Amino acid sequence: MATFDVIIIGAGPGGYVCAIRCAQLGLKTAVVEGRDSLGGTCLNVGCIPSKALLHATHQLHEVHENFEKMGLMGGHPTVDWAKMQAYKEDVVSGNTKGIEFLFKKNKVTWLKGWGSIPEPGKVKVGDEVHEAKSIVIATGSEAASLPGVEVDEKVIVTSTGALAMEKIPESLVVIGAGVIGLELGSVYARLGTKVTVVEYMDKIIPGADGEVIKTFQRILAKQGMEFVLGAAVKGAVVQDGKASVTWAAKKDGKEASVTTDAVLVATGRKPYTAGLGLEALGVEMLKGMVKIDGHFRTSVPGIYAIGDAVPGPMLAHKAEDEGMAVAEVLAGKHGHVNYGVIPGVIYTTPEVASVGQTEEMLKEQGRAYKVGKFPFMGNARAKAVFQAEGFVKIIADKETDRILGCHIIGPAAGDLIHEVCVAMEFGASAQDLALTCHAHPTWSEAVREAALACGDGAIHA
Ligand code: FAD
Repeated sequence: MATFDVIIIGAGPGGYVCAIRCAQLGLKTAVVEGRDSLGGTCLNVGCIPSKALLHATHQLHEVHENFEKMGLMGGHPTVDWAKMQAYKEDVVSGNTKGIEFLFKKNKVTWLKGWGSIPEPGKVKVGDEVHEAKSIVIATGSEAASLPGVEVDEKVIVTSTGALAMEKIPESLVVIGAGVIGLELGSVYARLGTKVTVVEYMDKIIPGADGEVIKTFQRILAKQGMEFVLGAAVKGAVVQDGKASVTWAAKKDGKEASVTTDAVLVATGRKPYTAGLGLEALGVEMLKGMVKIDGHFRTSVPGIYAIGDAVPGPMLAHKAEDEGMAVAEVLAGKHGHVNYGVIPGVIYTTPEVASVGQTEEMLKEQGRAYKVGKFPFMGNARAKAVFQAEGFVKIIADKETDRILGCHIIGPAAGDLIHEVCVAMEFGASAQDLALTCHAHPTWSEAVREAALACGDGAIHA
C-alpha cells in the first residue's frame, strides 16, 4: 500500500495530462491504468492510429489524383496492408512509450491494473489498496452499441476493429455519418473499398455549419463515398463471412438492404465507468456520465472526474484541458476550461474544422450576426495543392464585430482554426484578425480574407 496526494484512474489524454500537471505542481501522483500501454483510447485505438491510416491513404490519394498533374509520372504504388498496419502500430507504440517516458521524467507512478474505489480516499488495484487525498476518474468511453447489430470485431466492427481489419474489405457499410465514421470511411474509400454511409439524420456531421455540411458531402461523394441519409438501421446479420444490413427510410418506412464485406458501427461513444464502484459510493450520474460541478467535483467529496466520462464533447483536447484544470484545482490554483472555445476537427481530405457558434445556433438565439466568407479558390497556395473547393467562414457579432465562430473546410483546416481560437480567447474582433499581417503564400491568408470579408470586403474574392 502506498499513499499519494492524488490517484488518477485512467491514463488517456485526460488522465495522463492531469498526472503530469499534478506532478509539476508538486503533488505526489499515481495513475491506475489497466491497458498494457499508456495513452488511453486516443493513443491506442483512437486519434493516433486513425491519423496514421489517414496520412498513409492521403498519400495514396495524392499519387492517384494529383501526381500526374504535377508531372510526377510512373507506376502507381500498390498497398501492402500488413506493412501499413505495422507503420500504424509503430506510430502508436512510439507515442505510448513517450507517455511512459514523461511519467518517469515527472515521477508519476503507474499502478498497473484495473482500479476501483472501495471508499473515498482509497483506490484498489488488484489486491492492493492505496490511499489518496484526492481521486480523479478519467476512465474515458467505449463505442456505443446499436440494437440488432452485434459487433464481432471481424465482419461487424467498431472503430477499434476498423483500425485493424485482417484485410481491406471490397465493400464497407458505415453506420453513422459522424466524425469517426467519415474519417475511417475515407481511409477505406481511398484504399479502393466501396463505402456506403447510412445515417439516421437527414445530413452528415449533424450540428455542423450547414454550408460546410453541403460542401463536405459533395466532396466525399466525388471521392466515391455513397450516402443513405434519413435511414434507420434495423439490423445486420452475418453469414458466410459477409453481413447483410437492413435499414428503413424514415420518411416512408420503406426497407432496403445490402450485402457487404464489413460493417463499421460508428454511432457514437458512451462513458465507461464499469467496475469503479460508483453506485455503491453514491456518485451522482447524469445519463450514464459522471455528474460534476464547475470545479470537476463529483457529488462525493474528494472524488473528481474529467474527460469522456463527464458531459461535453468527447474530444482528446477537451479531456486534456480538463486534466490540466483539475490538477490546478487540486494544487489550490484556479483551473478553468473555456467550453465556448473548443475546436472540432475532421481529418479527411480536405479537413473540416470549427469553433464557436454556427449560423444555425445564432438564428435560434435570435442574435444579430454577420458572416465573412472566403473561398479557397482565391487562395494561391490552396490552388497549388488542388484543394481550392472549400472556404473559411467567420461569424462575428453584427454590432461589436466580436468573433463568435469560425468554420473551415479546406487544406490544413485543423491547424488554421487555432488562430481563430486564440483570437476568440482574447475576445478579438474580426477586424483584429483582418489587420494582422499574414505571410504570403499561406493557407492562413484565407482566414484573414474571411475576416476582411466581415468588414469592407476580401481582396481576392
Ligand atoms: P480515454 O482515452 O478513453 O482513456 C481512458 C483510459 O482509462 C483507458 O486507457 C482505459 O483503459 C482506462 N480505464 C478505464 N477504466 C479503468 C479502470 N477501472 N482502471 C484502470 N484503468 C481504467 N479525439 C480528438 O480530439 N481528435 C481525434 O482525432 C480523435 N479521433 C478519434 C478516433 C477514434 C477512432 C476514436 C475512437 C476516438 C477519437 N477521438 C478523437 C476521441 C478521443 O480518443 C477521446 O475523446 C479521448 O481519448 C478521451 O480521453 P479520456 O482521457 O477521457 O479517456
